[in-house]
Amino acid sequence: MTRIGDAALVTRAGMIEWVGPLAALPRDLASSATHRVDLSGRWVTPGLIDCHTHLIFGGNRSAEFAERLRGTSYADIARRGGGILSTVRATRAASDAQLTAAALRRLDALLAEGVTTVEIKSGYGLTEHDERRMLHIARELGRARPVRVRTTFLGAHALPEEYAGRAGQYVADLAETWLPRLAAEGLVDAVDVFCEHIGFSVDDAQRVFASAQRLGLPVKMHAEQLSNVGGSRLACRYSALSCDHLEFTTPADVAALAAAGTTAVLLPIAFYSLRETRRPPVPALREQRVPMAVATDCNPGSAPTASLLLAMNMAVQLFGLTSDEALAGATRCAARALGLQTQCGELAPGLGADFAVWDVESPDELCYWAGFNPLVAVVRGGGIVRGMSDQDVRVAHD
Ligand SMILES: [Zn+2]
Repeated sequence: MTRIGDAALVTRAGMIEWVGPLAALPRDLASSATHRVDLSGRWVTPGLIDCHTHLIFGGNRSAEFAERLRGTSYADIARRGGGILSTVRATRAASDAQLTAAALRRLDALLAEGVTTVEIKSGYGLTEHDERRMLHIARELGRARPVRVRTTFLGAHALPEEYAGRAGQYVADLAETWLPRLAAEGLVDAVDVFCEHIGFSVDDAQRVFASAQRLGLPVKMHAEQLSNVGGSRLACRYSALSCDHLEFTTPADVAALAAAGTTAVLLPIAFYSLRETRRPPVPALREQRVPMAVATDCNPGSAPTASLLLAMNMAVQLFGLTSDEALAGATRCAARALGLQTQCGELAPGLGADFAVWDVESPDELCYWAGFNPLVAVVRGGGIVRGMSDQDVRVAHD
C-alpha cells in the first residue's frame, strides 16, 4: 500500500483523474480546477468496502444471546426453533418498510465509517417471494443512500422448516427455479452458498453453482468456517470471486485459492462472537499471495455489528494481519471479492472518485482504535456526501 505525503487528488465527472505528490501535479490540471478543497494534512483512503454482509433481517437475537450468557447451549436454543430459523420467521413476518428501516440503521452506521460500497446477501427469506423481497430492498437501499450496493443471492443459507427432510428438493427449487427468475429480474449480482457440515453439502453447492454459471453469474462461498467438507476446492473450480471465513482451510486449499485467483474474505467478528479458537491460515494465504479481504459479516447471530473499522481492528488483533493488510482488506481486496476492482477500491486514475478523509496521524490508526471513528468526510462518485461544508470547498484561484 503506497502512502503519499503532501498529496493532491484530482477528480472529474465522478472519476479519479490524477493522484500523486502535490509538487508533481501537472500545471494544466491545477489551473483548470473549478473547485479546490484543502484537507489540511488529513489522510485520504479509498472509500471503504464491506464485501460480506447480511444487513437485511427481521428482529434480532439479543434474547437468545442473553440466554446463552446465562448458560443455555446454542444447540438447545436451536432445538427450540431458535438460531437462524428464528430470524427467518421474523424476516418473513416483517413488512418491507420494517425491514428497510431496520437495515437503514445498520447501513447508516457503516456509511458513518467511510463505507462507499457494500455487499448485501439475501438468505433470511428462504421462499422465492421472501428472497425476492430481500434483494429488492437491497437495491432500494442503494437508491436511498450514496452507496454502491452489490446483491448476493444466498438461498442456500439454511434449510427452511417447510422443506425439513427434503434438502435435495429445496436445492433443486432454489437453483433451477428461483435463481433464474430472480436473475432475469436483475436482482442478483452474485450467488453464495453456506457450505458446511451443518449447512449445504459440496454436491448441493455444485448444483447451485452450475445454475449460476449457466446464468453468467459469479459465485462466492461461506467455506470452512466450522469444518472442512471441501467447499473452497469446489468454489475454486468455478473461479469463485471469494471464499469467506476459511478457519478450517488447509494448505492444499490455499494453493487452489491462489491458482483460481479467488479472494479470501476474513470475518474476525464472527470468529470473536462465536469464541472460536481456530484461525484462518493467514501466513499461508500471505505466502501464496491470495488477496485477503476483511468484512463485517453483519448478521443477527454470529456477528451483531455494523462496524467495518472494528472488523479491521479484530483482523489485526485476532488474525495477525498488518495494518496495511487490514486497510487493503477493506478497500482493494474487498473490491476484488466483489469483482469491482476496475471500478473502486484504490485511489488510481480511471477508478470511481470514492474516498474517505480521516483525522488521523497515519493510516495505521484506522485499525488501532477498537471502537473509535476518526472519519471526517466522504466523497462518493466525485460528490461530497458527508462531512465537508461549503466553506471547505473553495473555488480555485479565489
Ligand atoms: Zn456470512
